[in-house]
Amino acid sequence: MKEEKLDKNNLMEKIVSLCKRRGFVFQGSEIYGGFAGTYDWGSLGVALKRNITDTWNKAMQDHPNMTFLDSSIFTSGKVWEASGHVSGFSDPLIVCNKCKEKSRADHLLENIGIKADEKLSELEINKIFNESRNKIKCPGCGAKDFGKVHASNLLATSNLGMLDENEQQVYLRGETAQGIYINYKNVLDTGFVSIPFGIAQIGKAFRNEISPRQFLFRKREFEQMEMQYFCNPNEAMDNYEIWKKERMEYYQMLGINPKKLRFKPHENLVFYAKAACDIEYEFPFGWNELEGIHYRGDYDLTQHQKFSGVDMKFCDEETKEKYIPHIVETSVGVDRTVLMVLCDAYCEDKIGESERVVLKFPPKLAPIVCAVSPLLKNKPELISKAKDVFDVLKAEFGRVAWDDNGNIGKRYRRQDEIGTPYCIVVDFDTLADNTVTVRDRDTGEQERIKVENLKSYIKEKIQ
Ligand code: ATP
Repeated sequence: MKEEKLDKNNLMEKIVSLCKRRGFVFQGSEIYGGFAGTYDWGSLGVALKRNITDTWNKAMQDHPNMTFLDSSIFTSGKVWEASGHVSGFSDPLIVCNKCKEKSRADHLLENIGIKADEKLSELEINKIFNESRNKIKCPGCGAKDFGKVHASNLLATSNLGMLDENEQQVYLRGETAQGIYINYKNVLDTGFVSIPFGIAQIGKAFRNEISPRQFLFRKREFEQMEMQYFCNPNEAMDNYEIWKKERMEYYQMLGINPKKLRFKPHENLVFYAKAACDIEYEFPFGWNELEGIHYRGDYDLTQHQKFSGVDMKFCDEETKEKYIPHIVETSVGVDRTVLMVLCDAYCEDKIGESERVVLKFPPKLAPIVCAVSPLLKNKPELISKAKDVFDVLKAEFGRVAWDDNGNIGKRYRRQDEIGTPYCIVVDFDTLADNTVTVRDRDTGEQERIKVENLKSYIKEKIQ
């Protein structure tokens, strides 16, 4: 088997096209010309996404003192005022005077090698942009003719429950974390936890991204897996370091190439943060944030205490000490994780003389764990035996496919392309000795396994 060197330039196009062709991900509202920043998940995409969220839930569950939450997407508008999102959650927008394409000014500066933090004030970023204006091209038409940079708020608005226009503006949540902060007291008061403890949540978030791009990397509707850890201020820095380590180990446990993962400390901390870093992955379009790990001090609970009037202090029964807990947050997008897993798995190689595209998913993440086939389609005795094998495996693993379409070679190629780690073929020998052929996706090697041992064989491989 010979692995081909992948051309990074069109790798994203190949992945997007495979995702559509095989039913992982479709462009949102495609039959109406598409709706930017949205994608719809097909059957294999749903399975891949679920396998990822399952491993995240499991990793959180394994942590002592972890609780779970599913908070609502719609909240009181006051939540977003308290959190600072209404006044300060924005990206720097610049519009091309020629073609009207909207871009992020920090991204355009980055393209010509100038670093500009997205959190800079309007004044600061305009100054930097003006100094390099004559070098910056519009990605749409190539013109160098832009207006001024404006801070564009990322919160998506809604009129849900606003029965007259004088009522307070309602927003779709821009992150799941605020739902956690506003429920911290509820969780504490259940009496099942004490400091330190965590609240973990998976859910949708919405952002009016200026230029959604790079497929699943930057969407307007996406899903987050966030965990907020509430701790004593004296122990928060240690917890920050522990979570950094745990989160990196999580990706290694998933089977992601460790050479493509790294920590990147934040250069400019927001005023309330005590420490912050990203876990970055080397996507085909370069190193980019996958997950943020932030030690946020007591900022979030203090803000909600101020705006709601609810006392957010924790009282330590033993020491009688009263304080607002400090928070360590881990925050990652499900969609970005799916994209990373797809990029990490995508491979083009040759088995014998035959070229193929293969998704080398770690078996625990593969949407389908095995496909069962009768060698020939027109032999009822083979079909009947293969159906028995299929039923047993399907009942055990769920993620099992029946594939009797085309010749065996074609079936292998099709299963390789969707990342199925094992193909099981029932042939005439099966009828005689109750063994089947199990073909390994990555090596193409085949071995004979007794039907009664198949369940434990597959189980061991997908752990
Ligand atoms: P970026 O700098 O890439 O815009 P961010 O720093 O604004 O990200 P956070 O607000 O920290 O991101 O969000 C936490 C995580 O949520 C990110 O690390 C990322 O995995 C995911 N995420 C954020 N925005 C998007 C988006 N528009 N589409 C998909 N995932 C996203």
